[in-house]
Amino acid sequence: MPELPDVQVFREYLDATSLHQRIARVDVRHEKVLGDVSAQALQRRLTGRTLESTRRHGKHLFVRVGEDGWLVFHFGMTGYPEYAKTKEPPEHARVVIAFENGFHLAYVSQRMIGRLDWTDDPREFIRRHRLGIDALDDRLDAGRFRELIGRKRGSIKSALMNHGTIAGLGNVYTDEILFQAEVHPRTAASETDQWTLTQIHRQMRRVLIVSIKSRAQPERMPEDFLTPHRGVEEATCPRCGTSLEKARVSGRTAYFCPTCQAMQ
Ligand SMILES: [Zn+2]
Repeated sequence: MPELPDVQVFREYLDATSLHQRIARVDVRHEKVLGDVSAQALQRRLTGRTLESTRRHGKHLFVRVGEDGWLVFHFGMTGYPEYAKTKEPPEHARVVIAFENGFHLAYVSQRMIGRLDWTDDPREFIRRHRLGIDALDDRLDAGRFRELIGRKRGSIKSALMNHGTIAGLGNVYTDEILFQAEVHPRTAASETDQWTLTQIHRQMRRVLIVSIKSRAQPERMPEDFLTPHRGVEEATCPRCGTSLEKARVSGRTAYFCPTCQAMQ
């Protein structure tokens, strides 16, 4: 599922491929992926215009259209953007933005859980959707992080995954952050001491930045990362060799090392 690093990679991909080209037409193949905008309104707002710049907040990608407003991409479970010059866009392309140069930008979403939306103002969209501060926002320093997370109910993992608190972290990267910080995913957030919260904050920034540099590809991540071992049969901890364990935390499957991340 696309989380902050994946969406940042999508953003850089759009920046490198799709900006400043006139849009010839927009083909909405499945209206189910549209948020609060109709297919007709989307076509009217995009046709003849250009994509100008991008911005990311958590797992949302905002793309400025001319002077008028912003397209909002959310990629759900399996979505991604694809820029190409084939006659036929990919099978699961739900919206296809065709440029005058013959290329198109497809919003691909097999399970159609993601959304394509429109907003006049990203700040207003973030407020309306009650999204917390972006996990890589410079204003989210260790002090603010301790304050936000330390007062949450429930486990540290569910506190990190709550988008109303901090936006951008999902199941995979919260596991990685807690593995790097050597904290058990079921530790109560409110019982995590200040020193440990500071370590989690430091690892959150490091894991996200390193993962973006790895293009969010597990096979490119450092050898001591947990992520490449997810879902591998008889996976062992890359640090100590103990068999990795799985646990249900907030309805998601958490991977962790019972030795490195022993319950305190
Ligand atoms: Zn271990």
